Amino acid sequence: TTNCFPMILISGSSEREIVDLQQGDYEEMDQLAVAKTMCKAAYRVLHAQDIGIGLARAIRSAVSGRPGGVYLDLPAKLFGQVMGAEAGAKSLLKVIDAAPAQIPSPAAVDRAIDLLKGAKKPLIILGKGAAYAQADEEIRAFVENSGIPFLPMSMAKGLLPDTHPQSAGAARSTALKDADVVLLVGARLNWLLSHGKGKTWGDKPKQFIQVDIEPREMDSNVEIKAPLVGDIGSVIAALNARIDGSWQAPPAEWVETIRSKKEANIAKMAPKLLKNSVPMDFHSALGALKNVIKERPDAILVNEGANTLDLARGIIDMYQPRKRLDVGTWGVMGIGMGFAVAAAVESGQPVIAVEGDSAFGFSGMEVETICRYNLPVCIVILNNNGVYRGDEKNLAGGTDPSPMVFVKGARYDRMMEAFGGVGVQASTPAQLRAAMEEAIRSRRPTLVNAIIDEGAGTESGRITALNPTAKKK
Ligand code: ADP
Repeated sequence: TTNCFPMILISGSSEREIVDLQQGDYEEMDQLAVAKTMCKAAYRVLHAQDIGIGLARAIRSAVSGRPGGVYLDLPAKLFGQVMGAEAGAKSLLKVIDAAPAQIPSPAAVDRAIDLLKGAKKPLIILGKGAAYAQADEEIRAFVENSGIPFLPMSMAKGLLPDTHPQSAGAARSTALKDADVVLLVGARLNWLLSHGKGKTWGDKPKQFIQVDIEPREMDSNVEIKAPLVGDIGSVIAALNARIDGSWQAPPAEWVETIRSKKEANIAKMAPKLLKNSVPMDFHSALGALKNVIKERPDAILVNEGANTLDLARGIIDMYQPRKRLDVGTWGVMGIGMGFAVAAAVESGQPVIAVEGDSAFGFSGMEVETICRYNLPVCIVILNNNGVYRGDEKNLAGGTDPSPMVFVKGARYDRMMEAFGGVGVQASTPAQLRAAMEEAIRSRRPTLVNAIIDEGAGTESGRITALNPTAKKK
């Protein structure tokens, strides 16, 4: 629900009478009550003839307006109920127009167009709502015909290729600091965008235009000068209709500032990605990964970790929409293997799951599922023996290791072998790349244990910075 993913969870639950009187039953939890606090909607079906209605309500709730999670509770008593097949079929309904178009008001479109026309340094930010909306052609036309630089949030990468000349990805800091008018398309001004204020956004005044299906999202962190409430397909189509002969591309100076900053940053990064050190560091390993994805832009990239996430997000270019799945809005670890299984089953495309060793530990046992269904998943573990880094000392003394480090030299590749998949240990970028290419070619479940220097890696999240007495690094 936090990610605005439409998902319906159907679950059995214990006898209502016993749960409500708290008389002690097998798994007695009041699941509906728990779900209500976290989901977009939660429903219970008590009679077999209501299953159709329950499903219809669940589908509409999940996909209409801002998408979200729905819980459907089926208590024990329902399971024993009997209905004739014909009556049963009749009780099901077809959900018509489950996610109706939401057209923006003409006045809201005018407001946004006026702001964009007056901008000297406009910027478009595409979020995962834009990817979810599947309005790819409208979005591409809007970006290209308006000439405005764009910045993708992590799961919007690939909506337009990261190599697109208008991408400001490699000039993110400059783009955010210097822009004067920012158009948000399916992206919230939450922590991932520093709440729209503070150092990240520089000290020049900003005006925000926000496209979102959820009216309450507007003004959630800063003032939104031009709220554009509607579904992204309809809103962007309305904006496209206004990009006519009178439209002027953004000032060349702004476009050039972004372009030169981007090129300088890419040139600075290039030698790090080509380094052939043994053991590898994050950059040299991710340099190899970047090339594999470039060759197979149809592959789905799953990504979780600390350094592994932070760095892969920036380094690995995406070329097609909805090919990147990561930790999402809350940065939750443990999603990787579930996403990898689902992506492989749903799409049939090769899946590459790039995991930190710590992140993999949250759901690593799913390698058994991957092998059981023989899924074309290649897991790459960037293994530096710990959380952030593997060389931390136990500051409390004693013989226990630091709570931040894992077993040294762990052979994650052997976990995959235990279930009949392919396990590879890779010490060099070339070995890593070869193992991944073979995994994609063979479509066999594969786990590559990529050995990363345990001194590589930094604390992500800047927790130390919260300590007022900590030394500045
Ligand atoms: P990111 O993390 O990529 O910045 P967010 O999850 O913060 O993106 O924002 C996604 C936004 O997109 C949510 O506010 C959601 O309401 C909105 N959204 C999702 N689907 C649509 C749609 N079809 N049309 C308009 N807005 C949408």
